[in-house]
Amino acid sequence: MAAVEKFNLVLRASKNLTPNVKQCFFVREEGKLLDFIPGQFVTLMLPSADGVKRRSYSIASVPGEQNLEVAISYVKGGYASELLFNLQPGQSVPAMGPVGKLILQEEPVKRIFLVGTGTGVAPYRAMLPMLAQKLQQGDFQVILLQGVQYRKDLLYGDDFLAFADTHPNAQFFAHYSREDLSDARSYECKGYVQQHFSGLSLHPEHDVVYLCGNPNMIDAAFELLQAQGLPSKNIRREKYISSN
Ligand SMILES: Cc1cc2nc3c(=O)[nH]c(=O)nc-3n(C[C@H](O)[C@H](O)[C@H](O)COP(=O)(O)OP(=O)(O)OC[C@H]3O[C@@H](n4cnc5c(N)ncnc54)[C@H](O)[C@@H]3O)c2cc1C
Repeated sequence: MAAVEKFNLVLRASKNLTPNVKQCFFVREEGKLLDFIPGQFVTLMLPSADGVKRRSYSIASVPGEQNLEVAISYVKGGYASELLFNLQPGQSVPAMGPVGKLILQEEPVKRIFLVGTGTGVAPYRAMLPMLAQKLQQGDFQVILLQGVQYRKDLLYGDDFLAFADTHPNAQFFAHYSREDLSDARSYECKGYVQQHFSGLSLHPEHDVVYLCGNPNMIDAAFELLQAQGLPSKNIRREKYISSN
């Protein structure tokens, strides 16, 4: 695993991905690329009157790309949200990384479910090229499940749809908790993302589920998956919470 380093991240550009999510492109101040594994995150160390506030963000870009991309959801009054949504190109923030164990493993699984709410799909986007390689090896399926409130909140939906279109053993489903789905497309479902599990017959050795994002979704999904006989070692979790 790559060593954890400390560095400054300089904002190069940012734009709205959805009405509530900003896509930020950073580079390291000294120009070096960050050596990370898809699924890992960086932690920003934001100065404040009460000391440093640590806020983590999953890396949404692929290793080797010039820009380190993160998708930041706006939390009204949130310390990092206010600071990062006002950050201007050329300004920098102290950071450390890469950190995190929500990564793909060398293991003999046949199906992998990648479940994320909101920006919790960012690590899966970084994994797409690795997943494509695994799919080429055969006897392997990828099911990407995204949960958001409305269609307008769908994050990296085009990337996931394109991935599912080009890989016969990959599927993508978007779940909307609040959208009126009278005109649902084939990949769209109404309700919470964890409701997708009810129709699945999960295999305790062949299936692995990754859960990322909203802590309530993760707890609810974990309970449902365990009740269906999936052992906890096959459930990988990353809760999006602030550390201090
Ligand atoms: C490993 C890891 C990876 C993460 N990756 C991402 C990522 O890729 N993108 C991303 O946007 N966030 C991510 N997060 C969450 C992120 O680190 C911050 O917690 C988030 O940005 C809120 O920080 P803040 O300082 O703006 O709000 P805070 O100042 O921490 O919170 C202000 C208030 O809002 C509440 N609050 C905090 N978060 C939310 C929320 N999401 N919805 C509603 N209320 C909230 C708090 O309880 C508090 O009352 C990740 C967290 C972890 C641990």
